[in-house]
Amino acid sequence: MGALTIHFHPMIPVRLEHVTKKFGSQIALDDVSLTIQAGEVFFLLGPSGCGKSTLLRLIAGLHQPTSGRIYFGDRDVTSIGTEHRNAVMCFQSYALWPHMDARQNIRFGLEIRKIDRTEADRRVEQVIQLVQLGPFAHKKPNEMSGGQQQRVALARALVVKPDCLLLDEPLSNLDAKLRLEMRTEIRRICRASGLTAIYVTHDQKEALSIADRMAVLNFGKIEQIGRPQELYLKPRNRFVAHFMGETNFIDGIVRGMKDSLIEVQTSVGNILAGYCPEPIQSGDRVVVSVRPETIRFGPAPSHSSLNAFAASVHDTIYLGEMAQHVVSLGTGPSLELKAFELNPKRVARDGAVEQTTIRIDPEDVVVLKN
Ligand code: ATP
Repeated sequence: MGALTIHFHPMIPVRLEHVTKKFGSQIALDDVSLTIQAGEVFFLLGPSGCGKSTLLRLIAGLHQPTSGRIYFGDRDVTSIGTEHRNAVMCFQSYALWPHMDARQNIRFGLEIRKIDRTEADRRVEQVIQLVQLGPFAHKKPNEMSGGQQQRVALARALVVKPDCLLLDEPLSNLDAKLRLEMRTEIRRICRASGLTAIYVTHDQKEALSIADRMAVLNFGKIEQIGRPQELYLKPRNRFVAHFMGETNFIDGIVRGMKDSLIEVQTSVGNILAGYCPEPIQSGDRVVVSVRPETIRFGPAPSHSSLNAFAASVHDTIYLGEMAQHVVSLGTGPSLELKAFELNPKRVARDGAVEQTTIRIDPEDVVVLKN
């Protein structure tokens, strides 16, 4: 792919200070403060209605905050209209002109801005090269695939040299295979253009695979900000743990510390955990979060019996490279957990049950208070 790097702009940070947005009595965003670093690919992630599009629109200048301030670098843009803000928005519907070919679509914004012809030619060719549209530049939108149209929309946004690029679910109209391909492409294009990019999605895999950092929103508030691995492995609360990927929650009561691990009593025995995002003490009611892919099968190595449990595999969804099992622990009222196995050797189907042992590394167990 080559290491094409085109720095169009001085990179700028985007800062929100105590931003609230109300629509009538509806609070869409509730006192949000956030700094997106210069040149960062930052994701806003959350369920439908959590306020992520509202936040993006506030940055674009398409909405005014009810209170709070927004800065591009040192410039307070809170009351500056969208046309003077130099933030471009790339929507899920690409909104390309059907009668213009790709090159004309890309060039259009420069003509409106009355950019000199030679400079416009140079910039158009530069972004066509950046988004790798060369062979399709003469095609009209209806002659291009969804992925190619997406590239035109990105090129059209980049060619005007924005201070920041705002992407609202840009991949949602593409089929699954193309989405995967464009994930890598969008990251490459953002990196190569050196722009501050803010990207809205409800798809946590998209965020995990592209983001430098991300914020998870819920009911207009930020639940957690961090790098993808931080949010996945060290969620601050139950909402983030659940939203970032599949997990098993097991209720328990903290019993104390054991060799710098937290010991939690549960209905299937004591579970040792390596991480809790907040201070806890004996007697606290908690949930233990165990991701399905961290559960291992088979007896523990002789030197360690930490977090090893007798289990029965009840049901399996076989997917080739992996299997999704339902396993039961305990003899009394049993606890069911979901467990993923790569290169699967066991398949429990049609009432067959396999007795086994499962193990969970304490370092993979997170204790959450809420
Ligand atoms: P989705 O993923 O479904 O697009 P979202 O996280 O982007 O959701 P927003 O569109 O930001 O959520 O909406 C946040 C809240 O504000 C919702 O309750 C929504 O109904 C409300 N809202 C958004 N825009 C308006 C508007 N123009 N007028 C009234 N209410 C609005």
